Amino acid sequence: MGLDLFAIPVEKLRGVSTQKSGELHALGIYTIGDLLEYYPFRYEDYRLREFGEVKDGEKITVQAVVAAFPSLQRYGRTARLLCAVSVEGMVVTAVWFNRAFLKDQLEVGREVIVTGKWDQRRRQITVAESEFPDRGTARSGTLQPVYSVGGGITQTWLRKKIDEALTQYGAMIPELLPASVVHRHELMPRREAIVRIHRPENSREGQEARRRMVYEELFLFELKLQAYRAANRKQPDGIAHPIKGEDIRDFAAALPFELTDSQKQVINEITADMKRSYAMNRLLQGDVGSGKTIVAAIALYASVKAGYQGALMVPTEILAEQHYRSLTKLFEPYGVQVALLTGSATDRKRRDILAGLEMGLVDILIGTHALIQDDVIFRKLGLVVTDEQHRFGVGQRSVLRRKGLNPDVLSMTATPIPRTLAITVFGDMDVSTIKERPKGRLPIKTYSVKHEMMDRVVGFIRREAELGHQAFFICPLIEESEKLDVQNAIDLHTQLKLTLPELKIGLLHGRMSAAEKDQAMADFAAKLTDVLVSTTVIEVGVDVPNATLMIVMDADRFGLSQLHQLRGRVGRSEFQSYCVLIANPKSENGQERMKAMADTDDGFEIARRDLELRGPGEFFGTKQSGVPEFRLANLIEDFAMLEQARDDAAELTALPEFWTSPSYEGLREFLRREAALQGEPLD
Ligand code: ADP
Ligand code: MG
Repeated sequence: MGLDLFAIPVEKLRGVSTQKSGELHALGIYTIGDLLEYYPFRYEDYRLREFGEVKDGEKITVQAVVAAFPSLQRYGRTARLLCAVSVEGMVVTAVWFNRAFLKDQLEVGREVIVTGKWDQRRRQITVAESEFPDRGTARSGTLQPVYSVGGGITQTWLRKKIDEALTQYGAMIPELLPASVVHRHELMPRREAIVRIHRPENSREGQEARRRMVYEELFLFELKLQAYRAANRKQPDGIAHPIKGEDIRDFAAALPFELTDSQKQVINEITADMKRSYAMNRLLQGDVGSGKTIVAAIALYASVKAGYQGALMVPTEILAEQHYRSLTKLFEPYGVQVALLTGSATDRKRRDILAGLEMGLVDILIGTHALIQDDVIFRKLGLVVTDEQHRFGVGQRSVLRRKGLNPDVLSMTATPIPRTLAITVFGDMDVSTIKERPKGRLPIKTYSVKHEMMDRVVGFIRREAELGHQAFFICPLIEESEKLDVQNAIDLHTQLKLTLPELKIGLLHGRMSAAEKDQAMADFAAKLTDVLVSTTVIEVGVDVPNATLMIVMDADRFGLSQLHQLRGRVGRSEFQSYCVLIANPKSENGQERMKAMADTDDGFEIARRDLELRGPGEFFGTKQSGVPEFRLANLIEDFAMLEQARDDAAELTALPEFWTSPSYEGLREFLRREAALQGEPLD
């Protein structure tokens, strides 16, 4: 929108009183620009139609002539006005309810336009709205915009004000998109699009106007992102890790397995970034079990070999302990010192670790958000890795980053989404994706069963235990709640001990102390227990390759991504693994999720369906501050357009003249205004 229109207060329009202006402000409309960009969310169809094309029960608008005197019937408080009207030479009955006052206006021979539901059998229209063309028509023959209104603002009033604003200021609406882009995608010129989105002649025109504005919205968003990235890229104030290729190759060669091609590829992307002098900010996405930990470990190793320290922040203590155990073992032969810092460390231990860290004796610090406390001081922090990054707020991640001088940052997530979407949502991050799982992994067989089949589920556990494998049994809540009919983990644990006396059943839930939790997890990992009954504290990251059976109680209470995460706790070896979802068959969208789970175990596909089911806001969660809010665009429906907009914006910002030529002044002005609104750049 031309900036000038945003400088004109909406009060400039006739008939906007102090009260009305307050009510407009409540809708977010302060200026003429805001008003013109207050788009309708749908249209009411008042276009004239012929009976031939109308089906029984459909809404129609027809032009009719009053054919006979109307008759008025009263039933209690209801008044029914019946009138024979002729439409296209055919006589039908028009029926109004509680519009007795119209009786005198329906003079024989007078034209009337009626909108209502067509009853084929009775040849009757139940009129919802009507008007007389000889009084000057307003609605009929058109698509009328429907806006979201509230307070004292009515639909009719707002339509009128927007019409006035279009008439008075429409000519001032400037084009914003480069001509090349408008031409490439055959977009409506901006001025026309804004007029047509409010007053479309027909639905195709409305759609075209919308398409143009959606494109613009996505393009401007991408432009903002990329301009910001380009500006940041120019600051060589990060750490240029001197990494030797052979160090990485030797380290990889000593692993007990061969890295997948995908892992090698992302390691190349990450180390190439680390070598550069600007600060890396990279997202590593890969499905559950795709082997992200070893990639992180190699990046941390590279940083240490280059003379720096590394930090690995994870969302739960269980996961911190697990990473600590595996990385300690992994780095042992190389003399790399790993330390663990969680909230439950004793004061003394904590002091020791912090001293070691400051003196540079600790090379890699692993921990929960305990890592971001003030007294945690690194001597030379080079790389920060966050695992399951969606569990952290943007704030927490940036605190950790500020513990070094622009250290490189790698954020890992197990909820992989299409690249463009990731780049869009995660703003200024570059994205690396692990596309395959390690070789020899069988797809996890997934079943959804009813609670009544518990006996068979127990039989399943027994059978897997006989094969020497282990099982997880997940409960949604830890305590009996009267309202929710949920079986709790403690009860289930007791019950399973009775039904499976030959097996060792462990228990893990959020009310246990950190030490107890760690013990339960360690026992399970060491195969001292066969079954682990747990709440969702194990949801993320836990890696016990010998576990082959994941049972989820009340699975319909879980979201799709969460179920996929839980399922990802098995299928981490070459053994066939299973996932049994115990769900209430009456839970309607629950069943949809169960079906999706049984259909696929591809994390991308699961994420796509979850996004569809829940919408971007909920999917990415409130902590993920990067999720853009669009007025018109829908990240899922308009995805193809998002990709084009992204490419176009990239092409444009790469042109030197974009930053200098007067023809792009409008866009540069837009970028300046956005930066000013935002204040500080993103995380
Ligand atoms: P996630 O990506 O879910 O964090 P992990 O990093 O926990 O996955 O890896 C899952 C399991 O796969 C671990 O036991 C890990 O040791 C193993 N693993 C990782 N990469 C490979 C590989 N290339 N070949 C075989 N096993 C691998
Ligand atoms: Mg992991």
